[in-house]
Amino acid sequence: MTDRIVLATRNPHKIEEVRRILVDAGLAIDMVELPSDAPEVAETESTFAGNALLKARAIAQATGLPTIADDSGLCVDALNGMPGVLSARWAGRHGDDEANLALVLAQMLDVPEHRRGAQFICAAAWVVPGSHEHVVEGALEGSLLREARGSHGFGYDPIFCPDGMAVSVAQLQPGEKDAISHRGRAFRTLAAMMGSR
Ligand code: IMP
Repeated sequence: MTDRIVLATRNPHKIEEVRRILVDAGLAIDMVELPSDAPEVAETESTFAGNALLKARAIAQATGLPTIADDSGLCVDALNGMPGVLSARWAGRHGDDEANLALVLAQMLDVPEHRRGAQFICAAAWVVPGSHEHVVEGALEGSLLREARGSHGFGYDPIFCPDGMAVSVAQLQPGEKDAISHRGRAFRTLAAMMGSR
């Protein structure tokens, strides 16, 4: 029998990536999307883990179902770790990927190569109502390019070059991104925990 689990996000890119990562990890789950009447959860915490738990707890309570949530973003060394938890609304409007990316590129204009380090971070939370909750993190280290490259992925992928590679994340195939990504790392760790309970 497969377990039903809610993924607490409306971001279609995250839904696609998380579903693929969990299936590839061999987890037999029936991942249901967020019901249309589910509450909007404001991301009021200062950490990825705090926000992921906040979202998973709220949706688990509203649906009564086991819930997983992703909170993720880009942390830029030269910007003191920002955009961080503000990654989705860095340019002011939530989810405007193009404007967010353009603003980070502009802010990094005069920053030399050796100070362009950055990380993608993903916190993956799992809440089972009345039973238990867990949150784990995954990271991808890299540096910021000077212009957007590639058309795969979403968000800041076109300007993020993983350490040891000469391409942006948006130039990787989906499976290649999952193998090294912050989300792949976090959700594979979570999948191992879910599979062993
Ligand atoms: P959240 O919905 O608050 O977790 O916001 C996540 C934001 O971080 C997204 O809107 C993207 O801007 C950025 N982000 C998270 N994960 C990725 C990724 O895998 N690639 C590129 N950008 C990402």
